Amino acid sequence: MAKRLVIRGGRVVTPADVIEADVLIVGEKIAALLAPGEEVSGAETVDAGGCLVFPGVVDPHTHIQLDTGIYQTADDWEIGTRTAAFGGVTTVVDFATQFEGMTFPEALQARLAECKPALIDYGLHMMVTDLPHDPAQARRWLEELRDLGVPSIKLYTTYRPNYYADDAELLHTFRAMPHDMLAMIHCENDALVTDATQRLVEAGKTSWAYHGQARPPEAEVEAIQRVIYLAKVAGAAVYIVHNSTQESVWTVARAQQDPDQPPLYCETCPQYFWLDDSRYAGPRAEHFILQPPLRPKDWLVDLLDVWPVLSAVSTDHCDYTLAQKVEHQEFTKTPGGLPGLETSFQLTYTYGVHLAEQRREAGEDVQPIPLPELARLMSADPARLFGLYPQKGAILPGSDADVLIYDPMPDVTIRAADLHVLAGYSPYEGVQVKGKVRTVLSRGQRLIHDGALAGEPGRGRFLRGQPFRPFGG
Ligand SMILES: [Zn+2]
Repeated sequence: MAKRLVIRGGRVVTPADVIEADVLIVGEKIAALLAPGEEVSGAETVDAGGCLVFPGVVDPHTHIQLDTGIYQTADDWEIGTRTAAFGGVTTVVDFATQFEGMTFPEALQARLAECKPALIDYGLHMMVTDLPHDPAQARRWLEELRDLGVPSIKLYTTYRPNYYADDAELLHTFRAMPHDMLAMIHCENDALVTDATQRLVEAGKTSWAYHGQARPPEAEVEAIQRVIYLAKVAGAAVYIVHNSTQESVWTVARAQQDPDQPPLYCETCPQYFWLDDSRYAGPRAEHFILQPPLRPKDWLVDLLDVWPVLSAVSTDHCDYTLAQKVEHQEFTKTPGGLPGLETSFQLTYTYGVHLAEQRREAGEDVQPIPLPELARLMSADPARLFGLYPQKGAILPGSDADVLIYDPMPDVTIRAADLHVLAGYSPYEGVQVKGKVRTVLSRGQRLIHDGALAGEPGRGRFLRGQPFRPFGG
């Protein structure tokens, strides 16, 4: 008989509400929400007293065991999914990279072999670098990819020579995409970035202190506007990744009001509402080298203002070690990317709920993010966008029993020494957060409990994403 668990005593965050309920799990699935204390025979109890019961976090933008062709992160899929699990993340949607000359099935197979040691379930997007020029053939390639369970692709408007796609390539790819696929786009105007970088290099300003100036916020906003127009012309559904400025999100929001704009979505990451570019003037600037960079204070994403526009808070997680970060003391040579999987829920809960409540009590005109909306951003919408809902992303009967039991009471200080990455640093060192992960269930198995991991590498499964279907917006 399938194992039965009951999560007792918590407040359950459903898509619509927060309710006092117990959660019955049978085998790998959520079977029912029960009245508190309702008798269940033959079930083991998972104590959630005093806790919030969220769906496990779905992070739609991670780079575990990343090989950019230039840099390689030091982690592997066991290490990457372990740090995810400790952070309450039960699903990642990561990337397979089509290196030049590869077909999509070849790229996917190569990546799936690397993913084998995963501790949690995972989906994949395809980084497209080499799509056939013939439109009909390009369409067939993309349809085949979708039918393999990868309904989303990733394109870059910057990074020469490995990832960069110019306008013609973007347009060609958008036109070739079937309407049940979604394109994720990294938006930074390459000419503006190259120009700003060259000027700094010519002036001898190559230390980490100049990283932010090398990639101005205008470069992001321009590329987002252009991508939105190209997507409109071609009729393509688009998801703008890691919006790092408030103006970026408003640019997306304005386009969403256009009835002729195809489905359009966006995400941000905790680093773009927690951190600003003053870090580049500080003593640990290498801890903050990423693209897009941290922004000046007056450009920052104001999460409490823009969360209704967002479809996800992702991490863009990259586990480069400190040794890799400091190898070259020049921003042009330092691998860009920050570890974030283990801290993203804590940081977003703290900023979006706890600190917002404090600010409101102090008389500021702000509203905390309602908990079901937090669950939408951290779980439900990312699962919807990439064809995983309602198997993932919600506490509903029939969904996988992926559950994050979060104790909202403790005051915690983030310390790199407590995290499970190889990086050896955290961009949030010393940051005070409210609450911590108590228990994480993945398909009904207790994966994390009181700071300990129980679960075999390789238990994670590849999730075939269903074709993209527009929703909300
Ligand atoms: Zn990324």
